[in-house]
Amino acid sequence: MASDAVQGHVTPADSVSVELDAVSMSFETGEATLTAIKSVTGSIPEGRFISVIGPSGCGKSTLLDLICGLQRPTSGSVRIAGEPVKGARRDTAMVFQGDSTLHWRTVRDNVAFGLEIAGVAKPERLARAQEMIRLVGLAGFEDFRPRQLSGGMRQRVAIARALAMSPRILLMDEPFGSLDQQTRWVIGEELTRIWESTRNSVLFVTHDVHEAVLLSDEVWVMSNRPSTLKARIRIDLPRPRPSGIIRDARFTEYTGALWDLLAPELTRDTAAAAAHP
Ligand code: ADP
Ligand code: MG
Repeated sequence: MASDAVQGHVTPADSVSVELDAVSMSFETGEATLTAIKSVTGSIPEGRFISVIGPSGCGKSTLLDLICGLQRPTSGSVRIAGEPVKGARRDTAMVFQGDSTLHWRTVRDNVAFGLEIAGVAKPERLARAQEMIRLVGLAGFEDFRPRQLSGGMRQRVAIARALAMSPRILLMDEPFGSLDQQTRWVIGEELTRIWESTRNSVLFVTHDVHEAVLLSDEVWVMSNRPSTLKARIRIDLPRPRPSGIIRDARFTEYTGALWDLLAPELTRDTAAAAAHP
């Protein structure tokens, strides 16, 4: 398994890759300084699907916030296509944790929302929304409101809204976290199919090691706080990956190795880390 560790990437200068260089992020919480992320260095080459796993509260959402420009690191740098990230970018989109649909808007207007904010003219944004609605399998539901949909369908709406922006970089924060196992599986397969046609870069946070191996080219394992990038594991399984692949010896070797890396982080105490960053 050690030979699967990623030793660094050679990236063409003009590609839209994400580069994290010694990124640290601390929060002032009254008396103490809480260091969420400590000196994370890594890159997301264009077109790669990378999953991030790590214990709850280790800084996975914070990492995504830093890449999409919602927060600035305490130290270190986040660069996209060689430029420091200073705020929201048109080539980056996020699917947030939990249900982020706008309940008063129809499916169509939810999917078109980002384009509307970006000032895209109405005929163009509605045409684009329709295309994305079809892509995520929601054709026929354009005039429905989120509360008339299942949890899985609402997540498809959120994914379609992000994809409508044609992002080069798609950040997904436990997008299937609230869904049952079977629905996760189905939407995961859909996401793979879509990604194979768009080939954007994806950073996908999940707590499910099986999902991480099934979907990804590479899995990042974060340690407990203060979080470092403990390991980067290349998933060298051919695509497409049918559901039966979970019985493949190599699949179970990957999930076992990831679990071995993750398990000690779940029980390690963080109290001292919070008090003495
Ligand atoms: P994860 O997504 O891995 O569960 P988060 O990135 O949400 O973790 O949070 C990492 C740590 O940073 C947590 O301990 C959280 O409480 C803390 N944290 C996140 N945002 C803030 C904030 N704005 N102020 C103070 N602490 C924060
Ligand atoms: Mg989170």
